[in-house]
Parts: sequence; C-alpha cells; structure tokens
Amino acid sequence: MKRIVVVLGAAVLALWVWHWYTRPAPPTPASRTAPKTAPKTASNYVHRIVCPLCNGLRVLLYDKGIRKDDCPLCVDASSGVPLGYRDVRVPSGYQICPNCQGMGLIVVDSSAHPPKTSTCVLCDGTGVIPAVPK
Ligand SMILES: [Zn+2]
Ligand SMILES: [Zn+2]
Repeated sequence: MKRIVVVLGAAVLALWVWHWYTRPAPPTPASRTAPKTAPKTASNYVHRIVCPLCNGLRVLLYDKGIRKDDCPLCVDASSGVPLGYRDVRVPSGYQICPNCQGMGLIVVDSSAHPPKTSTCVLCDGTGVIPAVPK
C-alpha cells in the first residue's frame, strides 16, 4: 500500500515537473518574437519617401502659382488623396526602385493637368526591386 503511494507520489511529482518544465514554453515565443522583430524592423524597414514631384506639398502649382493640381504621384491608392509622401516597405534583399524613386509611378506627361502618370515598369508599382548585388 505504501509503495503505491510512493509510486503515485513519484508519478504526480514527475507530472508536476514535466508540467513545470513545459509551462515556461509559452513565454519563450513571446520573448523570442521580441528580438526576432528587432532585426526584422532593421532589415525590413519602411522608407518614407517625400514625393519628388510635389516635394511633399501634395499639390502642383502652375500658371505662375495661381492654379494647382492634386499631385498624381503621391496619391494614396485607398483614399485617392495625395499624401506628399509614400511609405515604402523595403524588405531585406530589396532596394528602392531607381526609376520611380520608390513612388511606384512615373510621370509620362508633365504638361497635362494633372500630369499623367504610369505605373513604373521596373518595379511594377511596388517601389522596390530586388537589390542589385554590388
Ligand atoms: Zn506628390
Ligand atoms: Zn519603380
């Protein structure tokens, strides 16, 4: 009878130890994600690119500054409103597109009002291209 109690006690103790050892597992992913996101943000950071066409003004002035167009280059796709900048996410191994400076669009007719733009053929509008090995 005493042996059963000892075995049962050992089993409970083993179970408790096993439980205790497996329990710290959940906090580790949390602590693991913290340093994991740190290098991720370093290599996968977002570039804020000031619009090279309107220089962040969101509008283009013409006729000696008495008329203006909404800047077509930094238009936010979801709201349709020019922002004056574009946040470009540059994953590691990628670089800002040299053709559109990361805007994803290039001006094809600057004499039009507003200027006509076209999706950048080099980056397909993403603003980034695979990094060119140096
Ligand atoms: Zn702009
Ligand atoms: Zn481009």
